[in-house]
Amino acid sequence: PLALERKLQGMFRLLGLKGVTGMALAGIDMAAWDALARAQGLPLARLLGAERDRVPAYNSCGLGMIGSHDAPAEAEHLLVHGFEAIKVRLGYVEARTDVEVVWAVRRAIGERVALMADYNQILSVAEAVRRTDALQDEDLHWVEEPTLADDYSGHAQIRSRTRIPVQMGENWWGTHEMAKSLAAGASDLGMPDAMKIGGVSGWLRAAALAEAAGMPVSSHLFPEVSAHLLAATPTAHWLEYVDWASPVLQSPLRIELGQAVVSDRPGTGIEWDEDAVAHVLVT
Ligand SMILES: [Mg+2]
Repeated sequence: PLALERKLQGMFRLLGLKGVTGMALAGIDMAAWDALARAQGLPLARLLGAERDRVPAYNSCGLGMIGSHDAPAEAEHLLVHGFEAIKVRLGYVEARTDVEVVWAVRRAIGERVALMADYNQILSVAEAVRRTDALQDEDLHWVEEPTLADDYSGHAQIRSRTRIPVQMGENWWGTHEMAKSLAAGASDLGMPDAMKIGGVSGWLRAAALAEAAGMPVSSHLFPEVSAHLLAATPTAHWLEYVDWASPVLQSPLRIELGQAVVSDRPGTGIEWDEDAVAHVLVT
């Protein structure tokens, strides 16, 4: 995988590949690491030097922009399997509504559960400062992508003016973008996406950058592979849990007491349920 990965990284950097092509290259990288781990008879995490077999996870299977009326019931539902952390999407027309939704969720989940908030890049820098001001006493675990993902200086301005930890990274396309983000002081926390950062190889480099910067690292989507990657990440923080792939997997990622259980099967542990795949295949 390392030789292949050097070629892929070179293509990433020379051609500035993003989007579908970059994702495909990362997929090939992940498949190559999976094959190597299987050939060694080791779970990917162990091949990468990890000793832990559990990773703290937050339940991201919901709490879209559903408003303060419906949010409490859904928030309670997300605490199944012992989850102790969930995430709510914000960015309503009125700042007041953001606060009301957070209040409603907090009332439902109690004080002990960690609550993250995600703006998905929707605010201007000025509006983000205004809204994080309004939310500063709500004990948010982080505020994610409050403004445009490639506006590192904008994120740094927001970060300098709020006490809520600023989270970003799901849109870092390769470690060279992550390095620029770190240099700009854009965020307190980082959350590379295994696919956009360049697969397993890109993640390992990202984990090294974060470790040197003392930055806690969370994952974005792809929980089945991300569990292995976080287990091998020195500053591992939270795994984002979604169950999107579970219907087509033989052994979906297990969550026990709010922790993702890293598969002990060789490779990533991903085995397709071929019947289920055939059922949903579009030809
Ligand atoms: Mg996000």
